Amino acid sequence: MKSGGIGVNTDAMALRFFNTLSRSLEEFVPLDPAGKSVGLYCCGPTVHDFAHIGNFRTFVFADLLRRHLQFKGYGVRHVMNITDVEDKIIKRVAERKMTLAQYTGQYEAAFFEDFQALNCLRPQQTPHATEHIGDIVGLIEQLVARGIAYRAGDGSVYFSIAQYVKSGNRYGRLVNLNLEQMRPTERVASDEYAKDAVADFALWKARVPGDGAVCWPSPWGEGRPGWHIECSAMSMKLLGPSFDLHLGGEDLMFPHHEDEIAQSEGAGAQAPGQLFVKYWMHGAHLLVDGKKMSKSLGNFFTLRDLFRQGFTGREVRYALLGAHYREPFNFTLEGLRGARTALARLDECLARLREAAKGASAPADEALVNAFTAALDEDLNISAAWATVFDWVRENNRLLGSGQATPAHAAAALAAWEKIDSVLALGRGDASEISGDLQQLLDERLAARKARDFKRADAIRDQLKSLGWVIEDTASGARLKKV
Ligand SMILES: [Zn+2]
Repeated sequence: MKSGGIGVNTDAMALRFFNTLSRSLEEFVPLDPAGKSVGLYCCGPTVHDFAHIGNFRTFVFADLLRRHLQFKGYGVRHVMNITDVEDKIIKRVAERKMTLAQYTGQYEAAFFEDFQALNCLRPQQTPHATEHIGDIVGLIEQLVARGIAYRAGDGSVYFSIAQYVKSGNRYGRLVNLNLEQMRPTERVASDEYAKDAVADFALWKARVPGDGAVCWPSPWGEGRPGWHIECSAMSMKLLGPSFDLHLGGEDLMFPHHEDEIAQSEGAGAQAPGQLFVKYWMHGAHLLVDGKKMSKSLGNFFTLRDLFRQGFTGREVRYALLGAHYREPFNFTLEGLRGARTALARLDECLARLREAAKGASAPADEALVNAFTAALDEDLNISAAWATVFDWVRENNRLLGSGQATPAHAAAALAAWEKIDSVLALGRGDASEISGDLQQLLDERLAARKARDFKRADAIRDQLKSLGWVIEDTASGARLKKV
């Protein structure tokens, strides 16, 4: 990777990201002196419930970034934490009378099923907060030793913003905070708090009766870690005190990420002149029907809700990849049906190319690959990347339609598609995308027919049709085909 050049060619080669720290586009230059290895941390799920599609927008964004970096030849070390202890989880565990591990285990398993359905590459490491209590306590001890954290009267340990600022640091790096309004004598114990409540926040929470059996020993007595400190402790433990990329949804910018910076740099683990994180990238909100998703508005979707309506992980992935990560994305069922139509267009073109290639092989058509790469190099400009792909589809359809697509041309086009699909990861639209729920309906219909319950079999056929699928009875059994 060249850096610092201003020539046209160099610019075209450069990979640039919007860094929240500088609020500007910056050329991506990894910390690794060899320029090869990249450390990537993305805040993972809090496993207190099924993750919703807003959460998955962030994970698909992280997956796109990782795949693009890998495509560019970087070796990516991807770490995503699993928050398996925090305020909401403690509350639910007490309500359900379960152990922490029982409660969080079920939602973690569900999370990775959904993650896989969206074809997201699993991070190499997915550390659990509860497995890193020693690292977390160690980091808090460092902050206490440096006078930046203190044990309060309630037995909890808090981060002192006043002391942090006094020792030459700035609080408010990702968001503009009005430090005049800072009230350093006030404290917040909860993990989530609003921007106008800039205050000392909890690193270690002393055990209270409501915590039940959820506690660990520490130099400050029994308790549990705050949410913010876990990400600082685990990211630095696994990626080092300074690493390249930290991702998350924009709702995590404050206080979570601001606090991560304060804790990590407050502990002074970095080499002189080095930051905790070089590039911070934040994904914008996902709205549903133009509104903030909420259970009370009835516009709240988990991935499972969408599967029940007959949509596939591939279709949801395509839809989530439809908008640039920094643009708010308005999710609608209509849009998801649009994703199905667009994928069908793409699949049809690819099927015709396979037919035209007649088994030939050829080097990839670099024009598509280069245009696609150039688009993503510019802060993951996925809209420009899709424009390239659909121009390519149109052109190929024209050649196929007029009989001008030679086997060599078709093979080169397919090879190019394979290359860019290592980044898009849409795979092939075939029977493998039929969700478990659909397969179950198909099996139930077969059973009904065998039992000569044709009324039931027809009812299932109608149900599948309303979900957008028709049944094709073939010699080798029943198959589903999209309407
Ligand atoms: Zn985090």
